[in-house]
Amino acid sequence: MRRGECGMCGASDLAEVYLVDGARKYPKQRRFWAERFSICGDCYAAGFDPSTGGQLPAGRQRERVYWSQVAGRGELMPAAPCENCGLHVIRNADPLLKRITCTPACLASLTRIRNGNKGSGKPCETCGEQVTTGRADSRYCSSACRQKAYRRRVSNA
Ligand SMILES: [Zn+2]
Ligand SMILES: [Zn+2]
Ligand SMILES: [Zn+2]
Repeated sequence: MRRGECGMCGASDLAEVYLVDGARKYPKQRRFWAERFSICGDCYAAGFDPSTGGQLPAGRQRERVYWSQVAGRGELMPAAPCENCGLHVIRNADPLLKRITCTPACLASLTRIRNGNKGSGKPCETCGEQVTTGRADSRYCSSACRQKAYRRRVSNA
């Protein structure tokens, strides 16, 4: 079973994630790109006032990423495994979200939508150039940028 990663704080090896809708700002890009991603329980809890349960917008925001709501429109559902990778995801019930998947990439591979090696169409997380090759969930435009991001993570650890 795959372990999850938090799109807010970067925590990894998560057994369970919350699927949320939000947006992310890439290098050299002025605007935020709407995105559906997963976050950890701590980042989810930080978005709520513990005394009233009300939303805390500041707790849902970081410099380059924010989340606004849990994916789906109904009630919060108990954790269920992603049908593609097995990661446990928590999201809202929604008749339009029939299958449980943890990321758009898992949904794409489940429904066998192939994108002909055209990449994600989003900016590269390292250099901001559009990602035009690779899988639909590619985060970097090239192996050089992937390497750079990897080295940055290692040196930060
Ligand atoms: Zn987190
Ligand atoms: Zn998945
Ligand atoms: Zn790049």
